Amino acid sequence: MKLIGPFRQIVTMDGLPLRGALSDGQLEIIPNGGILVAERKIVAIGNFEELRRSYNPSEIDRLNTAYVAFPGLIDAHTHLCWAGSRADDYALRLSGKSYLEIAAQSGGIWDTVQKTRNIPDKELILLVAERANALLKQGVTTIEVKSGYGLLVEQELRLLDIIRKADNETSAELISTCLAAHIVPKDFIGTEEKYLETVLKQLLPEVKYQRLSNRIDIFVDEGAFSVLAAKEYLRKAKAMGFEVLLHGDQFSTGAAQLAIEVGARSIDHLEAANDDEIQILAKGNVIPVALPGASLGLGEPFAPARKLLDAGASLAIASDWNPGSAPMGNLLVEAAILGVKEKLSMAETWAALTFRAAAALNLADRGILAKGNLADIAAFKTDNFKEILYQQGELKPEKVWKNGYRVI
Ligand SMILES: [Zn+2]
Repeated sequence: MKLIGPFRQIVTMDGLPLRGALSDGQLEIIPNGGILVAERKIVAIGNFEELRRSYNPSEIDRLNTAYVAFPGLIDAHTHLCWAGSRADDYALRLSGKSYLEIAAQSGGIWDTVQKTRNIPDKELILLVAERANALLKQGVTTIEVKSGYGLLVEQELRLLDIIRKADNETSAELISTCLAAHIVPKDFIGTEEKYLETVLKQLLPEVKYQRLSNRIDIFVDEGAFSVLAAKEYLRKAKAMGFEVLLHGDQFSTGAAQLAIEVGARSIDHLEAANDDEIQILAKGNVIPVALPGASLGLGEPFAPARKLLDAGASLAIASDWNPGSAPMGNLLVEAAILGVKEKLSMAETWAALTFRAAAALNLADRGILAKGNLADIAAFKTDNFKEILYQQGELKPEKVWKNGYRVI
């Protein structure tokens, strides 16, 4: 057994509801805390000296200066598996062209698809691992990674396999999601329904057989897939045993009702969600995921995070790190900015980066520092947890543990 500490403050994120508004006063903070770890998990958490006396651990990771511990952060929505850059698109947007106009020309997702299809596997594995390591340095210990820049059966399988291989090259844990329904590929002849049928018949059985992912995602919006086609696709994928989620309400409305109807795990984006949709989401079990990095990358409004929480919905915040709309890849900066713009309490922002993000990935063993959970810990060099969001992402964790092992 190993004892880690003493931490000036351990913010456990324990005992908080999955949904609704939170105040900072609800946070459980253990002063002079210790975390006892064995076999990847937390055995006990509490006062450092008391834990040391009662367990007499064989090993102590002793901290000689003030640190604040949070659960390792969880980024529930990324597209790390890409090659190339979309700096040219970004410049065009700054010159007045819209995201949809650029996509309709030769830029957009299709441009990244070409570059991703053509890069050697080895190089792409390295790129994914490098990006995962960059997030790990920000304290992110679990990262969802989507395919979606392959858009052919064999290419999507290749990308999911690359994500699996990259998982071995980083200390962060990668959770893969099949996003073959990112857009209708330009080299596919036929309708959106036909493409989705191909994915259902040819790709998803193989994804299942090779155990590449148990989650599927679809981009429902103008320029991507219609609500009608998505409904059929999500229902069928669910019947095959996949957990389903969607990119929805980024530019147009209509996806929130769909998410509820098909029993989606999460609906991600929501920048365009209206009050009716907020009410719909407040009543269902779908986790809304705000992606402030995409709002910052596109110069678009933020998701209505405050309204969602006040209505009683849950809220996760993820980076959406991708080359087109969210190139920053700095989850803590993005969350801090969303927090100040949307007037989120610090407790709400931390919940959205920890246990509420874990719920978006259906992971019950992390996001809270508590007995039995994975010992995933981000430690910031400060004596007051409020410094972290106050410094808006500039204060990075100095030490990070994944499964009880120091990885940063
Ligand atoms: Zn996305």
